[in-house]
Amino acid sequence: MCMAHSTKSSVPDPTEFEIIERYFMPLASAEGLGLKDDAACFRPPSGQDVIVTKDMLVAERHFFADDKPEDIAFKALSVNVSDLAAKGAVPQHYLLGLSLPKQYAEHGWLEGFARGLGDAQKTYNMTLVGGDTVSVDGPVCISITAFGYVSEDTMVKRSGASVGDDIYVSGTLGDAAFGLRAIQAGQGQRARFLRQYHRPLARAGLGNRLTSIATAAADVSDGLLADLNHICSASSVGARLYQAKIPLSDDAKNELAKDTSLWPLILSGGDDYEIVFTARSKCTDAVAKLSQELGLQLTKIGVVTPGPGLELVDCTDKLVQVAATGFKHF
Ligand code: ADP
Ligand code: MG
Repeated sequence: MCMAHSTKSSVPDPTEFEIIERYFMPLASAEGLGLKDDAACFRPPSGQDVIVTKDMLVAERHFFADDKPEDIAFKALSVNVSDLAAKGAVPQHYLLGLSLPKQYAEHGWLEGFARGLGDAQKTYNMTLVGGDTVSVDGPVCISITAFGYVSEDTMVKRSGASVGDDIYVSGTLGDAAFGLRAIQAGQGQRARFLRQYHRPLARAGLGNRLTSIATAAADVSDGLLADLNHICSASSVGARLYQAKIPLSDDAKNELAKDTSLWPLILSGGDDYEIVFTARSKCTDAVAKLSQELGLQLTKIGVVTPGPGLELVDCTDKLVQVAATGFKHF
């Protein structure tokens, strides 16, 4: 396998403590006690709940081992922020668990990784407060636990959708899946697709604005159908989606114009990190206003039904039942 980082510097590989001191201490805030204690300590402002999430990224499963370390780090934090945003939380802090095979514990890779992490935490206004670093024989594994705050009792759950609610999704869908497909096929591909796959930007700014609007929400990590189905199962409802309303980038539209058999990638491909949410139909104006304020597309793509299951009104106006297939790990 090609290891993009295998050009070893002449400086000897760092030890665990050198890694922490040189690469992670600069990313830490006071709550992390300088990464010199056994644990971190922080307190949410009064009237706030703490929302906690963890997402693990494993080489050759969630990213390619020779991806740029900057991108791997950026994505590792983004996928966690995406979960916080989907729950209405403002990101605050994170813990970093890092399993590193020996050949990655070298300055070139770590510098890139720390740079990407620094970019990401600046983007999301978060700080590192601790973690654990271990050397392994297995693949690189990055396990981040992220903490965010939300006003007491306003977390947006998966379970709050009601029949008749509208279904919305942020941004556009499918670009990351097109990016992954291009990489797997060894094709050159549009930069937008690759960027969306390698360096997704979580909707941190949207999340907290949803607490007063959304009845339920989830981030689109495993694919629209799968993640919407999570909302439906948790809320004991179904959903009807309108295929013609699914928001697409111009590049994705071009691809689909050439080959309509790519539609399942749009509906079921993972890694979009957009937010799918439901809202009462009386909130239409509020959602439109929010979309304008954030400069972010929020598109009505369907409606909550008694269910069970998901149905799709396809581009020829035919109603079809769809399986909630998304990315499944097992
Ligand atoms: P322990 O012996 O309790 O496991 P460690 O020696 O692993 O503690 O860690 C020492 C300090 O360094 C702790 O504050 C821990 O949170 C921090 N730390 C270790 N690894 C990381 C990491 N990957 N990212 C951030 N902080 C880390
Ligand atoms: Mg300890």
